[in-house]
Amino acid sequence: MAFTLPALPYAFNALEPHIDARTMEIHHGKHHNAYVTNLNNAVAGKPEESLSIEEICKSISKYPAAVRNNGGGHYNHSLFWTIMGPNAGGVPTGALADAINEAFGNFDEFKTKFNAAAAGRFGSGWAWLIKDASGKLAITSTPNQDNPLMDVAEVKGTPVLGLDVWEHAYYLNYQNRRPDYCAAFWNVVNWAEIAKRFGK
Ligand code: MN
Repeated sequence: MAFTLPALPYAFNALEPHIDARTMEIHHGKHHNAYVTNLNNAVAGKPEESLSIEEICKSISKYPAAVRNNGGGHYNHSLFWTIMGPNAGGVPTGALADAINEAFGNFDEFKTKFNAAAAGRFGSGWAWLIKDASGKLAITSTPNQDNPLMDVAEVKGTPVLGLDVWEHAYYLNYQNRRPDYCAAFWNVVNWAEIAKRFGK
């Protein structure tokens, strides 16, 4: 198999009470697992089988919808698990904090704008903090399992933080209250990991 489901780097219940264990178990074990299985089926026996998921995303317009949907799903969720964690939350520090202040004014303004992008994404999709080619930060959102690495993205850049706003990410605990889920998300954000991604 070309692609594998990465292990969740913490227990299913590690993000409670902000994200419940049952949601994490289904999200990782069923949803992400299905993206990996379907991606492997879509690339089987083709040259893209040997590419990295980042390389596939960057030229996604060359591939069929099954690769776009499931390849995006695999990339996005692999990132999502790592940018959250137990004993997380708080505020960013160092160069990342400076870049956030420079791009958005201050940390609270950044959160307000990010939450607006997440709440305002109609239907299923993701909100992103991205780094553009010049190293500047921007907020964007994508539909379905698209992401800003993709050549089809309206706003392109390297994702440093992503928030899944598909109903499967929050419905068991939050039902229709997506803004409450978005607000709770900040309590589990792993700024150390995001700073690492920003520094690359
Ligand atoms: Mn998801």
